[in-house]
Order: sequence, then C-alpha cells, then structure tokens
Amino acid sequence: MKIKEMFKIYSSCKLCPRRCEVNRIKERGFCKEGVILRIAYVGPHFGEEPPITGKNGSGTVFLTGCSLRCSFCQNWQISHSGIGKKLKVKDVIEKIEEMIRRYRVHNINFVTPDHFIPHIVLIISRIKKKYDIPVIFNTSGYQSVEILRKIKDYVDIYLPDFKYSERSLAKKLSLCPDYTEVCLDAIYEMVKQKGFLKTEDGIAKRGVLVRHLILPGKIKNSIDVLSLLYCEFGKELPISLMSQYFPAVPQKDPDLNRFLKKEEFLEVYNHAISLGFEHIFIQIPERPDRSFVPDFTKEQPFPGNKQRI
Ligand code: SF4
Repeated sequence: MKIKEMFKIYSSCKLCPRRCEVNRIKERGFCKEGVILRIAYVGPHFGEEPPITGKNGSGTVFLTGCSLRCSFCQNWQISHSGIGKKLKVKDVIEKIEEMIRRYRVHNINFVTPDHFIPHIVLIISRIKKKYDIPVIFNTSGYQSVEILRKIKDYVDIYLPDFKYSERSLAKKLSLCPDYTEVCLDAIYEMVKQKGFLKTEDGIAKRGVLVRHLILPGKIKNSIDVLSLLYCEFGKELPISLMSQYFPAVPQKDPDLNRFLKKEEFLEVYNHAISLGFEHIFIQIPERPDRSFVPDFTKEQPFPGNKQRI
C-alpha cells in the first residue's frame, strides 16, 4: 500500500484492533491521539536486551499515547498522561538522524507506534534512503494482522509483548478480552514475515523477540503465557522475561501495588527452562539498574533462524 493511501486510514481509524472508526482529524479514539504526530522522547536507550542495546544503545522514539493503555502501564506519563511534543515529520527525521550520527545507535526503535503508523512509515521510508539501520516496532502485541501486512517492508525487527493468557485479566487491566487470540495471530504474522530474531556480531538485525512482563501475583497468567508460546512457536522462539514491574500509579488490584517477588520470578523462569526454551533473556529482580542480561544457561543465543511455522 502506498504511504499516501495509509494516511487515509486516519479518517476512519482502524490502525489497531480496537477499530474505533473515528475520524481522527475531528475526534479521538481509544488511544486519545488525533492526526498530529506527538513524540515524547527521541534518544539512545540502554535498558533493552543486549542484542537490541548493543554497545551504543537502541535509538528509541517514544510515541505519545497508546492503543492498549493498560492500567499498570510502566510508561504511564507517555501513554496515559499524554506527555509529548507535536512534531512535524521532517523534525522527527532530523532528530533521528542526529541521534544516529551522534550516538551511532544500532537501530531505530519505535515504541508503541500503532496509532501513528502512517507517519512512522513515512519517516522510515525517508530514513532508509540514507541509513542502512534496522527498524524495530516495539509493540503491545495487540496488533491487527491487516496492518502488519501493510507495514512489512518497513520493519526489520518486531518486539511484541505477550501480556495475557487469561481473558478476564486482559479485560480487567487492558479492556481487551480478546487480547490473547489477537496477540497470537499478530505474532504468527510477525514470525511469518521476519522469522525468529537473528543477530550479526551480537547485534539484532531482523526477526521477532517476544517479551513478557511478569505481573506480581499473576504468576498463573505468566506460566500459561509461556506454555502457549511454546505450544504455538516451539522452543526456538526467543523470549524475554521482564521483572521490572513497579506500580506507576495506584492500582485497584492490591497485587499490582507492589514489586515482583524474587520467588515469583523464579517460578516463571523455571517454567520457561522446564519447557526447554533455548533463547531466554531475563532481568534479575534485585539488579538496581534492572537491565537485561542474557541467560547463560544456554550456549549460543540466536544461532540461526530456524522458523517453525
Ligand atoms: S489507533 Fe486509536 S483511534 Fe485508531 S483504532 Fe486504535 S485506538 Fe482507535
């Protein structure tokens, strides 16, 4: 699809599975964003998984707003409070190009891009004319397959979350009871397009890495998330287990007003190991910087790209 055609989607927005069908020139849908691009942050980020962060950092571009808007969002100020600046496409391109030149970041990492995909695709098409750099879509996992097919030539790496295996939890925390099936379909499409994550000299170049944020007191959800991923994609699917949860704003569910316990993390981690996942990234709960470390229980992370579906 031509980029010009993509911009037309804003007039009856179906960019994400919420399919609000609002005209974003005049009103806002669930994501709370109109048609003016808003950006919260452009800069190098060193807290991603090692093949994404590398030595020089991941070139993050945080979009204001979000189409999922979980009650526990770890980037609450950006997704819910609307922190961000209105920027023109050319200004965003300038900022990204400056980041590439100044920091030599290993990738351009668009964080929650769904609701601004037409703008992002335009930005990518211009950046790619000058720079040979992988583009990451860092997403909630709640993506439309139809839209993923339209953007496949613009994306190199997908970093989707897989948050919920439980319908009731998805409904309660993200107001989307269909999250599990929508997310599985989306990950199928992502893997079909790009395969599992591939690296060169330790740096991610292409493919899919699935993230899961372990929520305090919701360990069964996490265990079932891993079992589902294993059953659907097999042991070679790269996964990242995140233990960084903190209560960004007060939560109705008392479990979510605390940090994750070490024993909770270990229960989930041990389940991943018992299933036989071969490529796992973990965050150790006590680490003050909460950065990712590779799981050294396995010899060779990402040896190749043996796609299973
Ligand atoms: S991107 Fe926003 S307006 Fe469009 S369908 Fe999703 S939530 Fe609704």
